[in-house]
Amino acid sequence: MKKLKKSAIVTCGLVLLLMSVPKLGNAMTNAEIDKRLSQIQKIEADNAKKQQENEKQKKEIAIQKKQEANNLEEIKKQIEEQGKLLNEIQGQLLASKETVKQTNEQLQEAEQRVESRDQLLKNRVRLMYTNGFVSYMEVLFEATSFSDFLDRFHALQAIVSQDKQILQANKKDKESVAQKKVQVEAELVSIQTHYAESEKIKLDMQQKEKEKETALALLAKQEEQTEHFTEEQEEYARKLADEKSKLWAERQKNDTKNKPAAVYTGGALTWPLPGRTTISSGFVNRINPVTKKAENHKGIDIPAPAGTPIQAAAPGTVIIAQWMNGYGNLIVIDHGGGLQTWYGHAKSLAVEEGTQVKTGDVVSYVGSTGQSTGNHLHFEVRKSSTPVDPIPYVSAK
Ligand SMILES: [Zn+2]
Repeated sequence: MKKLKKSAIVTCGLVLLLMSVPKLGNAMTNAEIDKRLSQIQKIEADNAKKQQENEKQKKEIAIQKKQEANNLEEIKKQIEEQGKLLNEIQGQLLASKETVKQTNEQLQEAEQRVESRDQLLKNRVRLMYTNGFVSYMEVLFEATSFSDFLDRFHALQAIVSQDKQILQANKKDKESVAQKKVQVEAELVSIQTHYAESEKIKLDMQQKEKEKETALALLAKQEEQTEHFTEEQEEYARKLADEKSKLWAERQKNDTKNKPAAVYTGGALTWPLPGRTTISSGFVNRINPVTKKAENHKGIDIPAPAGTPIQAAAPGTVIIAQWMNGYGNLIVIDHGGGLQTWYGHAKSLAVEEGTQVKTGDVVSYVGSTGQSTGNHLHFEVRKSSTPVDPIPYVSAK
């Protein structure tokens, strides 16, 4: 947010400066011209600083944006993984609930078995020792001999003992089912806890995802703001360059008194980088029919090694010799007659503003300053402040 405000303040400053520009037209003395030129130079130097700061900011935002975008992608991946995990746990949860249900049924059955065996045993004992005693005794007394009596007695004892054994076995079975029930219920609780934890992790991640998306949107806004600032700066620089062009023309007129000043009246410009004939990027100025976006390359790019001397394409006055925005170190020569040539991305400059140059004079040296990815000269021709295709203007390379 802080950065946004800063840009807004800088923009306001720009507008105020523009309003303070005095009107041209009335004949100015050289002293007046020089005063205004030095004013403009101060403004330009100040703007160059702001531009560099803006470019720095732009780069920082781009880096941040990339980082945030990577983070967001990572979070999205994690959310997807977490979603898969949740599905898995949900499957486990269903299976576990089913196991608990089955175990409960098993326990009920086991309890029933114990109860019915217990009942059976009680009934038999009751038969033996209470109401049924008689009949049992009868069974015994019906014995035909003492050994028959013993056989019958043992048989009865065996039945009761077997009942007791079965009851014991049933009770043991019930115990183990009850134990299993405790176990599967504990398992269910642990799975439910795991599910709740995983769900919370996913929700946290989704919250982070939202935060990252918000951060990205803010960065995009800031980026737009810096772009806007660059456009404004370029527009302002163009206006200052125009004014300087007029001031220099006025000064030349004063200096030559009655002699007419050298004015470009047509004819070929010379190639600014002799021997370097490759054009890596040509002049483009159109609206892309598909994307509807402006495709704009205001000049031609001529690759050359760093330090290669850049030569004036025609005689004229150097009206800009300083850093400007994406141009980096920039030379602009005014040739009169509304014609200017621009030389961008220089490693260093060889002339000062106000220098009168002849065709072929070295004005700067090839570099890769400003918005540039390699050593080259960005060469522009401007007709009445409008960039035009330089190719028809330059003849011999
Ligand atoms: Zn270029």
